[in-house]
This record gives sequence, structure tokens and C-alpha cells, in this order.
Amino acid sequence: MLPYPFKSRESLKRTGKSKNLQVILEGVHDPKDEKPVDSFRELLFLEGQLPGKHNDYHTLLRFLRMRDFDLSKSKDAFLNYLKWREDYGVDAIPKEFKYEEFKEVKKCYPHGFHGVDRYGRPVYIEKLGMVDLDAFSQVTTIERFVKYHVSEQEKTLNLRYPACSIAAKRHIASTTSILDVKGVGVSNFSKPARSLFMEIQKIDSNYYPETLHRVFIINAGSGFRVLWKALKAFLDMRTLAKIQVLGSNYQSKLLEVIDPCDLPNSLGGDCTCSDYGGCLLSDKGPWNNPEITEMLQEVFETEELYNNGENDGITSVEAFASSMGGVQIKDADNASTMKHGDLKQGMETSYVDKLTSQKIQSLEAALKDTKTKIQALEAALEDTKTVLKGLVRHIEELKR
Ligand SMILES: [Zn+2]
Repeated sequence: MLPYPFKSRESLKRTGKSKNLQVILEGVHDPKDEKPVDSFRELLFLEGQLPGKHNDYHTLLRFLRMRDFDLSKSKDAFLNYLKWREDYGVDAIPKEFKYEEFKEVKKCYPHGFHGVDRYGRPVYIEKLGMVDLDAFSQVTTIERFVKYHVSEQEKTLNLRYPACSIAAKRHIASTTSILDVKGVGVSNFSKPARSLFMEIQKIDSNYYPETLHRVFIINAGSGFRVLWKALKAFLDMRTLAKIQVLGSNYQSKLLEVIDPCDLPNSLGGDCTCSDYGGCLLSDKGPWNNPEITEMLQEVFETEELYNNGENDGITSVEAFASSMGGVQIKDADNASTMKHGDLKQGMETSYVDKLTSQKIQSLEAALKDTKTKIQALEAALEDTKTVLKGLVRHIEELKR
């Protein structure tokens, strides 16, 4: 098995810098995961199915986890994901798609990211009980909403998680969600609501697997509990295990995992985001901290440079910020107080190191493949020699 050469981490150990930006963004790899990720990477690489920008340890690991580390099934899921990205034009969405009806949609479908949990993961809140589908269909279409959902998923992977990682000084790659289902029952789960739910669920489970840390369903009444029995059938066991269904006494549970300053006051916290017209309109979080986004922009630029322009310049903090029609981004209340210089120091070199090591690794994989082929040829040659020797002996016998 190929070693996973993390030159950046090695050089950091030598210089004694314990935590720099790259180490935080990359996170600590669990040794038990490294071997399957290496095998998965090799499998995809040898089949020519590993585009440089998707050759990412955590992405590969998510697809492995999704299929219980079955290499063949993970490969199918990953290829399905790459094909969908291509067909749906995912890479172009942050730059080209503007969800101008964003503010109108928020009024009839209250939802949004808001702050972080106590571990540092982004918190996503949806007030499903307040969804007004008639008004929703007046201001947007399911197709456009799904596209916006995909743009938000991309923003979460490429901007929210890295920003949260920097703020929390540890690798963050999953979300804590709160779904307020006050008043939701079978009666308001109409056909358009069902198709929207199914469409979003399909995208999230197939293409953004293993990004959910846990879900709190709150204000679940008797009507919702009936509906929940039916909905459960569409969710896999792994997802179900992360969901906690709570009634109206949910506040203490939420406060266990979320600091009051990060929890809207409507859910038992202290936050009001009055400057933004409410917590679900603020998109408050470390991803709006200019100091952090500036650092990430530099990472994106370095990455793009070393990916030979494979990203086509679409990965940028500005592109993600502008995808939601004209939403102002201000400094978040919970701006981190970390020392900018400390983290930035060594970031560029370590990032280049990482990319170089990925290229070396790819070459090593190719070299290993060549070695295997040579060995196979050598074995075949030995077999041929044996056959020839047999033939020679046979001819000698015939001659006698
Ligand atoms: Zn707020």
C-alpha cells in the first residue's frame, strides 16, 4: 500500500509549529481511514476517474463511509456524483446563478444558516411549519429552488466548513440542523411539498453524503408524528440515527449543543440579528468574518494555481457571497480573535507541499501499476520459458 505523504505535516513537526492553517483545514486523519482512502484513490486513479480537484481525502472518505467502505459501491456512488456535477453544471452555479428571489423566498420558507454549535459546526435552521407553499410558488419554482439549494451546499462545503475550521481551530465538515415542524402534519404535506422534499433529499443523500452531524426536529406534535412514520421510510439508518424528534420542551436540548449567543431567541437563545431583520436572514457565522474569508481566498487562489486552472476561477469567496441576490455580508458578531499572522505563516508553502505531494502520490500510483504490469510480464516470460524447455525436451526425445 502506498504511504500517504503529507509533507506539510512532516515539515511542521520539524519546525515545531503545531497548528497552522493547512493542518486545521485538513484535519487529523484517522489511521484506520487512511488505508481505505488510499485504496479508493488508487482504484479511481488507475481507471482515470479522479479529476485533480476532486482528489480530496475527505471527499473520498465521505463516499467510502456512505457505502460502508465497500470500494466498488463507493466507486459507483463517486462516479455518479461526478457525472451529476457535469450534467447539472455544478461548478458554474456559484458564478452564474443568481437567486434574485432569495428575500421573497425567505419570507414564505424561513430557513438559513445561523452561527455555530459549541463544537464549531455551522447550524442550519428551517421553520417548516411556517412554509407557505402558495406564496412560494408565486415567487420561485422548484427547479430554481433546487439550484439554489445546490449553490448553498457548495457554499457550505467550500466556504462554511473551511471558515468554521479556521474559527474553531479544528477540522469541521458537518452541520447541526434544527427543523421546526410546529403545525406540520399530513394535511400540509401536499404533492408539491412532497416532490420538493424528495428532490432535495435525493441530492443531499447522493451527492453530499455524510455532511450531517445531527438533526433536531422540534415542536413535533401528534400530526407530525404521523407524518414522520411515513417519512422515515425514505431515510437510511445512518441518517435516522442522527435525528432527534423533540416536542415543545426542546430548549434545554438545543442549549446543550449551542451557545445562547448563537441560538435565535425564538428558539430559546439570546440572538435576534436585529440589524438584518432576523436571525434567518443574517447568515451569521465565521464564513462572514473578513479576516477568515481573506485567508481562504488566498488558499483558493493557491489551489487554483496548482490545479493548472482546473477550477476555472469559479471557487472564490466572492462568488459564493454573490450567489444570493444582493445579501450584504457584514462582520459576524462572533468574529474570531485568532492571530491572523500565526495562521497565515507557512500556509502557502504547506499548501503547495500538499498539492505537490498529491501529484507525487498520483505518479507513485502510476509507477506501482507499471511495476505490477512488469511483474506480470516477467511471470508470463517465466511460464513461456518453462513451456519452451518442455518443448525442447520433447523434441530431444523425438530425435532419439
Ligand atoms: Zn441571530
